[in-house]
Amino acid sequence: MRIVVVAGGIGGARFLLGVRAAAPDAAITAVVNTGDDATMHGLRICPDLDSVMYTLGDGIDPVRGWGRRGESWVVKDELAAYGAEPTWFGLGDRDLATHLVRTRMLDAGYPLSEVTAALAQRWQPGVELVPMSDQRVETHVLVDDPGTGRRQAIHFQEWWVRHRAEPEPHAFVQVGVDVARPAPGVVEALAAADAVLLAPSNPVVSIGTVLGVPGLREALLASPARIVGLSPIVGGAPVRGMADRCLPAIGVEVSAEGVGRHYGARSAGGLLDAWLVHEDDTADVPGVDVRAVPLLMTDPAATQAMAQAALHAARA
Ligand code: GDP
Ligand code: CA
Repeated sequence: MRIVVVAGGIGGARFLLGVRAAAPDAAITAVVNTGDDATMHGLRICPDLDSVMYTLGDGIDPVRGWGRRGESWVVKDELAAYGAEPTWFGLGDRDLATHLVRTRMLDAGYPLSEVTAALAQRWQPGVELVPMSDQRVETHVLVDDPGTGRRQAIHFQEWWVRHRAEPEPHAFVQVGVDVARPAPGVVEALAAADAVLLAPSNPVVSIGTVLGVPGLREALLASPARIVGLSPIVGGAPVRGMADRCLPAIGVEVSAEGVGRHYGARSAGGLLDAWLVHEDDTADVPGVDVRAVPLLMTDPAATQAMAQAALHAARA
């Protein structure tokens, strides 16, 4: 069986653990958002790819949910002592080695997809880890400057990590997306897939960013597989993160129904064949097979059951 999962960072990573457990013999391709990527202190950082790689490679810090277990922060403190900006981004010592290797390979001319495969050699995530694109696409957020009131675009990481998603987002802009293409292997994986799953990742700045890559949405729709989405919104709120800040900016209600309708029915110009919402939620999404199942990734068994439900919906 061949499974393609479209994923962001933490939500995508945890869901992928469930898919790997639910289908241990399957060939799983994870197409991961790279819109959160940034260059800091001269290093190329890919937060969502690293969240997936560390989580599936059993190197993630389970409490923070991101970065390395057993992390130390000596270099970050030393950089701060120099007043070297940005001081607000958490770069751990162990994590830095990943960024050093990545940056060195990118500087030598390797595309991000090859760099990602090389890094994954160490972590053995058990899935094919593919960035959405080899071209740089960076999400910027349009906000009002609190001092001048002037509208400006700041990097997603600055909005989320530095400002804790407090400035009202007016829009999300994918800088560089016009010349981006799906990374090698993405279109092929979708064409050969038996199941396509949209992880319960952020619909705007994770899944939405991946779908924004020219040709990617078309490749999803061309897949012979059913497309099954899982709601990241449970009981009218995101389980964690800032989707409740993002969805209103694109005019989507913060509910399982709102997100389901936003993705829309494949039969009516949208994406979904099936939409999974949490057991206590309801959603009316015309043309879509909506199923209510437990959607909380509280432990490995629950996460595996959730993936099983998604694979079941993909077979129907
Ligand atoms: P990020 O890139 O680290 O923000 O991670 P993702 O975009 O992959 O996932 C973030 C989304 O995952 C958030 O909108 C959360 O609501 C969702 N999420 C996190 N944990 C769970 C869970 O246990 N169940 C569901 N249904 N969604 C979850
Ligand atoms: Ca992310």
